[in-house]
Amino acid sequence: MSTTVAVVGGGYGGVTAAKALDEFADVVLVEPRDAFVHNVAILRQLVDPDWSGRLFFPYDRLLARGRVIRDRAIAVDATGVMLGSGDHVPADYIVLATGAHYPFPAKVEELTADEAAATLRTAHDALAGVTGALLLGAGPVGLELAGEIKARWPGTAVTIVDPAPDILGATALPGELRAELRRQLDELGVELVLGTALRADPPGRPGDAGTFTVTTESGRDITAGIWFRCHGVVPTTSYAGGSLAAARDARGHLVVNPDLRIPGHPTIFAIGDVTAIPEAKMAKAAEQQAVVAAANIRTLIEGGGELATYSPASPGIALPLGPAGGASYNEQVGVLGAAQTSQIKGSSLRVDSYLRLLNLDQ
Ligand SMILES: Cc1cc2nc3c(=O)[nH]c(=O)nc-3n(C[C@H](O)[C@H](O)[C@H](O)COP(=O)(O)OP(=O)(O)OC[C@H]3O[C@@H](n4cnc5c(N)ncnc54)[C@H](O)[C@@H]3O)c2cc1C
Repeated sequence: MSTTVAVVGGGYGGVTAAKALDEFADVVLVEPRDAFVHNVAILRQLVDPDWSGRLFFPYDRLLARGRVIRDRAIAVDATGVMLGSGDHVPADYIVLATGAHYPFPAKVEELTADEAAATLRTAHDALAGVTGALLLGAGPVGLELAGEIKARWPGTAVTIVDPAPDILGATALPGELRAELRRQLDELGVELVLGTALRADPPGRPGDAGTFTVTTESGRDITAGIWFRCHGVVPTTSYAGGSLAAARDARGHLVVNPDLRIPGHPTIFAIGDVTAIPEAKMAKAAEQQAVVAAANIRTLIEGGGELATYSPASPGIALPLGPAGGASYNEQVGVLGAAQTSQIKGSSLRVDSYLRLLNLDQ
């Protein structure tokens, strides 16, 4: 008798889990977009729409046996997944991999690659015409965006405002990494206005061009021609009502056991940015969790046995500041500078790995 696994969400975690299970089960991948978004590369695409890499990857070669349904989950329980269309996908096992919402341009709302590319192109054209950009948030996205803007348009003034006293806020990353990034940002001419917030948001929508002046709580006036919000990540778990509601923590993340099942739900797994696992939310973590969840589903399909567990990774990051700049850190190697960061991530943005994952490299 065949076993159906519904994977909800076709981002980094969902695609990895769906592919790993395709051989052992009837996989149904539920995803509202018409293409996988290689989000890690989105800020490069914003500043350089003609860069040599790719941002959108079709799903049509991902699964040899399984299928992709282009729809959105609106409710999930042990019997399967209820879709926005009103259809129900019955499933023996479910993997929740719906990620998180992040304000544009770190993520795009549009569900087709063409529309998303057009939105990025419009923001690119707006950015190209301004002399100053204001970024709200000195976390990884704000810093990466500042680096991309400076690499593309060195003459554009970039100011980052953040209420935290240092860049990378409350992350567990070491002072040495922050110091290296601050040094490079200074070299690029990026101005950091830390330890204060704006009295009010800038006018208009993020990404629209138009000169404005805003004032910080510390009394500093900042004039710019465009602004972006680089903070405010929210896990996408609104479909997790009913019996799953108890698994949602105060921030909307789903609590999971070490085997990545939702407590009290022996057939429902959650992976990636939706989980409450205490570690930095990264594509790499989502993929590693997908491997563990897929292995556990295979074990259960094949009659049981001990399930694998996932251990949160130690703090680490590869943070490019444009194709040739940036810094990286992990516990094994410590802090790496611009050249190594460019080699690890900045120049290629790991496009080849995802072409392979989506079977688009042959
Ligand atoms: C600008 C930026 C740069 C980044 N750089 C890096 C990096 O260099 N390295 C790194 O490791 N991480 C990086 N990250 C983090 C990384 O992108 C996330 O951790 C990763 O996307 C999480 O993967 P996921 O599979 O959990 O979710 P996602 O990749 O976000 O995928 C979730 C999918 O679920 C779909 N979905 C949403 N709701 C529903 C629903 N109701 N039903 C069905 N499907 C749904 C979405 O359309 C989406 O395709 C970066 C993030 C940003 C924003």
